[in-house]
Amino acid sequence: MIEVRRHVDTPKGLSLKRLDKAIRIVLYYVQHMFNIIPCIAGCGRAAITGSRLCAVHAANPGQESTRIAAEIRGQPTVKDINASGLSFEDEHFSDSSFNGCAFIETHFSRCSFLQTHITMNFFDFAIFDSCLLIGCDIRFVSFAGATLWNCTFDSAELTYLNFNGSLLSGCTFSSSDLYHSRFINADIDSVQFNNCNLTGVYFVKARQRNVVFSSSNTAEAIFGLKDIDY
Ligand SMILES: [Zn+2]
Repeated sequence: MIEVRRHVDTPKGLSLKRLDKAIRIVLYYVQHMFNIIPCIAGCGRAAITGSRLCAVHAANPGQESTRIAAEIRGQPTVKDINASGLSFEDEHFSDSSFNGCAFIETHFSRCSFLQTHITMNFFDFAIFDSCLLIGCDIRFVSFAGATLWNCTFDSAELTYLNFNGSLLSGCTFSSSDLYHSRFINADIDSVQFNNCNLTGVYFVKARQRNVVFSSSNTAEAIFGLKDIDY
């Protein structure tokens, strides 16, 4: 049984009973989303799906990447896989949907995710280099601490995404819906947010250079703590 810590202050308007319920729901999904098998090397990382070792201890990580990529390409829905720490180059994942997968510290180079549905995935500290994510439907996904270079997210649904602490350089988000996504403490360089829905998007403490917000509703975004309606 999970012991819910009770010494935290409840947010304004949220009773302790409702907070308990919310925490239990989150913990339930975290526990059941992944079938975590620890790496047999004892490093504490999760083993790659179909292996007993993590990417660090795999004898041939490149071979593991090739195997996982082939599995992904053959499935319309990819669910609960762990491909953390692997590298994918010039792969086309456009015909698959991804649910509950872990790609933590995974490196994607020149990969395409056109019209791809991605839900509840973890791309924390991943690297996306020159990838195409045009027309994607991505919801409740974390890119925290990730690095994204020259990636295209145009005409995409990008709601409730976490880009906190990420580095974005040379990316475009034109005609995309970023409803309630977060770029807190992100480093944003030469990025275009043209004709985007920025309602509830947090840019608090984000460092911005050459960022374009043409025809986007920046008044609905939160750029500083003063913009928050308590
Ligand atoms: Zn390991």
